[in-house]
Amino acid sequence: MFNRHDLAEMELSELEQALESMGHPRFHARQLYQWVHKRGVTDFAGMTDLGRDLRSALATEFRIVTPGVVQRETSRDGTTKFLLRLEDGQLIESVFIPDTPANTFCISSQVGCAMKCGFCLTGKMGIIRNLTPGEIVGQVRVLARELGMLQSRFNIVLMGMGEPLHNYDAVMKALRILGDEHGLAVSPRRVTLSTVGVLPNLERLATEPFMPNLAISLHATTEDQRDLLVPINRKYGLKELLDACRRFPVKRRERITFEYVMLKDVNDADEDARRLVRLLNGIKAKVNLLPLNEAAGIPYERPSDARVNRFAQILAERGLVVSVRKSRGRDIRAACGQLITESAREKSPAQRLAVLL
Ligand code: SAH
Repeated sequence: MFNRHDLAEMELSELEQALESMGHPRFHARQLYQWVHKRGVTDFAGMTDLGRDLRSALATEFRIVTPGVVQRETSRDGTTKFLLRLEDGQLIESVFIPDTPANTFCISSQVGCAMKCGFCLTGKMGIIRNLTPGEIVGQVRVLARELGMLQSRFNIVLMGMGEPLHNYDAVMKALRILGDEHGLAVSPRRVTLSTVGVLPNLERLATEPFMPNLAISLHATTEDQRDLLVPINRKYGLKELLDACRRFPVKRRERITFEYVMLKDVNDADEDARRLVRLLNGIKAKVNLLPLNEAAGIPYERPSDARVNRFAQILAERGLVVSVRKSRGRDIRAACGQLITESAREKSPAQRLAVLL
């Protein structure tokens, strides 16, 4: 059964070719895209505008893989976190964030993450594996189906578990599938890819036809400080990263978002704010401040609201567009950097408590 190819991770052109080589007209690919991606139907028998022969031929050639919902938790603010189980039993999390002002799906690109940023819980898991394009697309399909949103508009942020530019090909393929006009038709303008800046792949991204909005997890204003907080900086430094951002093709009226996690007494001084302004000089930038979401095992503290506001004010006074990210879903551990599905969460309540303390 596992050698049947996952139809839900094929681009339209691949599906057209496959149909042709099976002796069926190419146009059925569009119908299939509608059934699977737009209507969320994953059983060939239910695809009633396809002939019986074709349906049974499809069922022998293909399968349609959909992550299973293990758990669904809704926060006081309406944020809903989904724990999803993949075919091999691995667990990932995807989050629905309502009205920010758009409805947003925050999806994962890897099981775990290799980047080991010092303040991020997902980083503590290490990297377990890459997600396939089908698993990336599948998260969107599952959330849209579960929330009754297959027909509605939503934004997608690649800000869940994993580093999207560390799983480049699968992520880009998933975005092409999600963007296809015969499927969900999610325009690249409604997609934001967040990255620590895996430079060779950031350069590749700059040449993609399907170009999402870009968010850079900056978090520091000196090489030394960033080496500590975002270890990949030792390989691709701050200066090179910002140079790549300067060259990045930003559409008219758009900006690169720079995410800056605020850590008490580490990177939240007035001097850091002023250095940040200087660093971003000449880049069409906006800054998104992320006051740390604290968690057990994370050796940093969240600054006071007054400190965050003062920092934001310094940026704004010097002409930067700045916003402070409201933590959504903190009560269900769905906020930035709180996604973690280590097996500890499957353990007994006592063991779980030990992990949390
Ligand atoms: N790996 C990508 C995608 C994850 S996006 C990236 O790093 O950009 C998640 C965002 O939340 C990143 O900016 C990340 O640095 C930030 N983050 C991680 N841990 C956090 C925490 N504890 N509190 C607030 N933000 C955090």
